[in-house]
Amino acid sequence: MLEKTGVPTPEQVKRAAPTEDRLKKGPVAVVECFQSIPCDPCQYACNQGAIKEFVDINDVPIIDHEECNGCGICISQCPGLAIFVIDATYSEDKGLVKVPHEYTPLPEKGEVVTGLDMAGNEACDAEVVKVQSAKSLDRTPVVWLAVPHDCLMKVRGFRRKGGAE
Ligand code: SF4
Ligand code: SF4
Repeated sequence: MLEKTGVPTPEQVKRAAPTEDRLKKGPVAVVECFQSIPCDPCQYACNQGAIKEFVDINDVPIIDHEECNGCGICISQCPGLAIFVIDATYSEDKGLVKVPHEYTPLPEKGEVVTGLDMAGNEACDAEVVKVQSAKSLDRTPVVWLAVPHDCLMKVRGFRRKGGAE
């Protein structure tokens, strides 16, 4: 499926997910990069050593969720837009998903957008909590989305209401 569509299988996504115990501890990165490709900026982005050193540039990244502090630095360093940070502790009824976003104009804080899954299908409504677009983010802005808890492992992008990305 991944090779044909670029969309990972539910099993692959499940394997990449942090454990329930880790999710209870706060923000953590999810690396949904499953194909062997010549790419490795993520291993240099993480100064916590959470993303294991590659032996070969074609390695598939491996993250140790226990070493990850959820800082999010790696999100904008990934050219494949395959790294997200999720925070299940954000509030009682909502979690936070931090997604890379390369479309302009950027959404506004407080805006309600349509959360999309990895395949671009609508998952749920999401509220924009913060937009990070500093130069230090390698020109890929990161948008923080508050979503219902059951959407935390689904929302990986969004579309602005009214048709704009
Ligand atoms: S979120 Fe921060 S600590 Fe976690 S893998 Fe990314 S850079 Fe490393
Ligand atoms: S930088 Fe992104 S696309 Fe490249 S190997 Fe790491 S996770 Fe995969």
